Amino acid sequence: MIERTLFDSDHEAFRESVKHFAEREVTPHLLRWDEAGAVDRKIWQQCGELGILCPTVPAEYGGAGVDRLFSMIVLEELAPLGGLGISLSMHSDIVAPYLLAFASSTVKTAYLPKMVTGEMIGALAMSEPSTGSDVKAVKTTAAKVSDGYVINGSKIFISNGFECGLVVVVAKTDPAAGAKGISLFLLDASMPGFKKGKKLKKVGLKSQDTAELFFDNVHVPASHLLGEENKGFGYLMHELPWERMQIAIAAVASAEAALELTIGYTRERQAFGKPVIDFQNTRFKLAELRSELQIAQVFVDRCMELELKKQLDPVTAAMAKYWCTDLQCKVVDECVQLHGGYGFMQEYAIARAWTDARAQRIYGGTNEIMKDIISRTL
Ligand SMILES: Cc1cc2nc3c(=O)[nH]c(=O)nc-3n(C[C@H](O)[C@H](O)[C@H](O)COP(=O)(O)OP(=O)(O)OC[C@H]3O[C@@H](n4cnc5c(N)ncnc54)[C@H](O)[C@@H]3O)c2cc1C
Repeated sequence: MIERTLFDSDHEAFRESVKHFAEREVTPHLLRWDEAGAVDRKIWQQCGELGILCPTVPAEYGGAGVDRLFSMIVLEELAPLGGLGISLSMHSDIVAPYLLAFASSTVKTAYLPKMVTGEMIGALAMSEPSTGSDVKAVKTTAAKVSDGYVINGSKIFISNGFECGLVVVVAKTDPAAGAKGISLFLLDASMPGFKKGKKLKKVGLKSQDTAELFFDNVHVPASHLLGEENKGFGYLMHELPWERMQIAIAAVASAEAALELTIGYTRERQAFGKPVIDFQNTRFKLAELRSELQIAQVFVDRCMELELKKQLDPVTAAMAKYWCTDLQCKVVDECVQLHGGYGFMQEYAIARAWTDARAQRIYGGTNEIMKDIISRTL
């Protein structure tokens, strides 16, 4: 295996603490959380205490102000354990960066410290019942009034939507202008007219909070406009390489964990008087998966080097998102096969890995949209 060179001793110490936290506070609850359709709310505060939330947020807002490798570590350790990793990365590494980049200092001071502690959970609301891939077709409107905006519309499939305290909402400030009429707003869930719909029942990522949101004449003060009016589409594009990298990172880590699990299982499981791993088919299959994951890891790590230097371009990030999530789905499917019937039983971690993986090819921009982005450069 090729040695990874991204991390220093501080990163490794942090990884150990996240690993121990996961063993103690996450793994024992996974089945219960899946059945309940939610994680315990207190896990967010526990993550906050350990510095797992918003690690890159600067110290003036309560964060550690460290580099994105710390976020990568959180994902690598927690994404293989179900929906919590994705929920945390939405909060820490998608929503918080929007506030940092585009919110006024008053808004930053009001919200970021609460995000760092886990007191408030963040969400990003782009998708709507009638549009997901085509963001510029959103129908939610933000009409200008004397002291701010009035927002009307609805959103669907919003990660952290049910528990969120704040949401970055994509809305049209100039409906006739397409992508040039989109703005971003920070909504507080306590604002009158902001309603949360039911928690959506998913086939995978069962404990991950995904919900509908409704805005019925929500009055938003002008200070909650993020950046400038009608520049929202550009802002959404700004952080996309990093957002897609997060999905690729989660994909490779989750697939690697599934492979490890399967190597262990096939060593233990006997068929025809010998361990399943002793069949040539099993060894060759595991060898193929190990090779492909090693190749994926090297690519992801190189992309991360570029990301740290702010040199990761949208096309390369699209390649990472598409290829790594396709690979993840292939790996976990083969791993289920090598578990036989037990691989289809809910209490087996490999079954959860299989159902959880599927959404990775859909959110963050579908893999078809990734190929469209790549194909435009041919
Ligand atoms: C678990 C989960 C969590 C999510 N979290 C969030 C969240 O936090 N915030 C948020 O805003 N959204 C979230 N989403 C929504 C997600 O981003 C969308 O589902 C996704 O972007 C696809 O949009 P859609 O479902 O409307 O599919 P559609 O856009 O209707 O696409 C349907 C099919 O058509 C294909 N297609 C569409 N356009 C093209 C094209 N130009 N070329 C080729 N094929 C195309 C798609 O690839 C897909 O296969 C989440 C979704 C899931 C499942």
